[in-house]
Amino acid sequence: MNIPFLDLKANYNSIKSEVNAAIQQVLDNTAYILGASVQNFERDFSAAHQVKYCLGTSSGTDANHLVLWGLGIGAGDEVIVPANTFIATAWGATLCGATPVFVDCDPETYNIDPAKVEKAITKKTKAIVAVHLYGQSADLDPLIDIAKKHNLILVEDAAQAHLAEYKGKLVGGLTEAASFSYYPGKNLGAYGEGGAVTTNNEALYNKIKKLREHGQSQKYYHDILGHNYRMEGIQGAVLEVKLKYLSKWTDARRSVAAKYNEGLKNFAKVITPKEASYAKHVYHLYVIQLNDGSLEKSNQLRDKLKDFLTQNGVNVGLHYPIPLHMQECFKNLGYKKGDFPNSEKIAEAGLSLPMFPELTDEQINYVIEKIKEFFSK
Ligand SMILES: *Cc1c(COP(=O)(O)O)cnc(C)c1O
Repeated sequence: MNIPFLDLKANYNSIKSEVNAAIQQVLDNTAYILGASVQNFERDFSAAHQVKYCLGTSSGTDANHLVLWGLGIGAGDEVIVPANTFIATAWGATLCGATPVFVDCDPETYNIDPAKVEKAITKKTKAIVAVHLYGQSADLDPLIDIAKKHNLILVEDAAQAHLAEYKGKLVGGLTEAASFSYYPGKNLGAYGEGGAVTTNNEALYNKIKKLREHGQSQKYYHDILGHNYRMEGIQGAVLEVKLKYLSKWTDARRSVAAKYNEGLKNFAKVITPKEASYAKHVYHLYVIQLNDGSLEKSNQLRDKLKDFLTQNGVNVGLHYPIPLHMQECFKNLGYKKGDFPNSEKIAEAGLSLPMFPELTDEQINYVIEKIKEFFSK
């Protein structure tokens, strides 16, 4: 059996005629950039997340940049970001000319550890980016308190967390602003690049709307510096169709996770993901951690299991193999191995199993069986 890490074809097939018709409509009315399809999607996506405003963008990375740019982050500023995340979280800061300051994650949720955030604050700190990693909300309340106490701006990188909840409230409107990604493999994926900014702050919304389109609110009148970060009409149309199914697909992901949890609970060396009491996890990724005593041995076990599963047709992933503080591009910031042990641990001993809504029981059981076989050898 061959089990893909994610099956975009199965997903497309499940909505083919509907999404084809929506794309055809954009072709027919030639609204290729922004336009009605994007506006409709922005309206429905903000409603789905109970947040006032949504702006469709050209990618999640661009949304990360727009959020901090709109908030006035610039050269000389420091922005606190988790060490364990996708690199684009840090690009938000660097594209503004600011410096990312990394903080370790919690060993159980893999999200930024609020206790460690406070220690990373300096006179230059302006903002904190809370990433809802793997689809689980960061612990926001302590971060909100820290931000208030030190007069910092707190924002969310919700690229992996469409419809995720924190204490019963949807992410995306719980801080000053949030960024989402519609990269095809995300829980809500476009058929190309796409992202969004959400916020409840009207002034910030108006500013980011200008930044997204050449610093203008009227064509060819450029009030402020800007860029071209617009969403394409076809992406808006695709996303509008897919959004209707997102809640159902999220339930399916949670059900896959529950089956993995059950099937893997008796392996002493496998740590399954923990859903925090405050979170509704949407399982963008299902990341297990191998534990074989020392980090070195856990890393070896992880690599062996990864090879075994790959040889048996189970496609797995690493999220992420190199924490941000160990990336070549941030060498100048002076971090070293050992600075963030929890982030290094999930990088070296974590393994992402196939996770997508269309996974069948047969496929899930096959993955579990293969893991069983690996440990019985
Ligand atoms: C995917 C992702 C992004 C970037 O989104 P793109 O749409 O690929 O540019 C940013 N942050 C995180 C945490 C992500 O997972």
